[in-house]
Amino acid sequence: MPIQEAEKIWHNGKLVPWKDATIHVMTHGFLYGTSMFEGVRVYDTPHKGPCIFRNLAHTERLLYSTKVYHIRMPYSLEDMMEAQREVVRENGLKSAYIRVNVAAGYGELGPYASPAESDVSIIAFPFGKYLGDEAMEQGIDVCVSSWRRSAPGTTPAGVKAAGNYLSSRLITMEAKSRGCTEGIGLAHDGTVSEGAGENLFIVKDGRILTPPAASSILGGITRDSVMIFAKELGLEVVEQAVPREMLYAADELFFSGTAAEVTPIRNIDGLEVSKPGNRPITSQIQQKFFGLFSGETEDKWGWLDPVKI
Ligand code: PMP
Repeated sequence: MPIQEAEKIWHNGKLVPWKDATIHVMTHGFLYGTSMFEGVRVYDTPHKGPCIFRNLAHTERLLYSTKVYHIRMPYSLEDMMEAQREVVRENGLKSAYIRVNVAAGYGELGPYASPAESDVSIIAFPFGKYLGDEAMEQGIDVCVSSWRRSAPGTTPAGVKAAGNYLSSRLITMEAKSRGCTEGIGLAHDGTVSEGAGENLFIVKDGRILTPPAASSILGGITRDSVMIFAKELGLEVVEQAVPREMLYAADELFFSGTAAEVTPIRNIDGLEVSKPGNRPITSQIQQKFFGLFSGETEDKWGWLDPVKI
């Protein structure tokens, strides 16, 4: 997907022109992958104007990621939340994707080093449907990849580190080579983990299943929202290890994620899962989710964070 430039980037506390937001080639995060990030969406709502979706949860996860890898974080939770609003506001964006990066900075070598400086950046830019314009209605074709996700006790899947996306790259590249839009990675034990950049839900006989933390997933913020919506709808959600063959028995399958939002899967490994218009549970979850941004779903949780343009 091509980069859509905006005017300014927040870089180490200041708004700078897009082209000036650069880092040194000896930055630790570049040399050793000590770079944590978040991807966050901004929705243009009719009732509250442009709003960052779950700014607090994303920023908390970012701070957790920096903590696990001992990356210095010079800004507070509130500083980071406000800086995201500022970037959206100052670029005059109404709907956007925000990428927040915290990398160990310049000054020391060695994978164990903790440079005194961190490089912190916030970039907001226009962004459409990640998995294609028709994906929400039609659903997408998905393949199970031959690549496994990182096992527990290796690089933690629940931490949003840039290096985890090497695995995502292999999974999606393989899926695309097989004519699919996206790939699913299996966990170390051969059970289902997650999509390359999405969590996975399986609907069977009116129940919703989803792999647990121990199956090498990122604890998605959209996943959490989906689970809350499901409970509100009176649907049972079970976190459990999912054998691969359960995917082929599913009545419905869908992905959740900031970029993917709530995307139905119409075909898995060449086998049909469901047809458009015949996905009652996915449709109810989609309605609740997108309803938050149209105002039809009441935001009981304070998930919409207005940027106050
Ligand atoms: N798993 C992976 C590997 C991801 O990259 C993402 C996207 N951040 C997700 C799951 C979904 O997480 P979230 O809903 O917080 O975007």
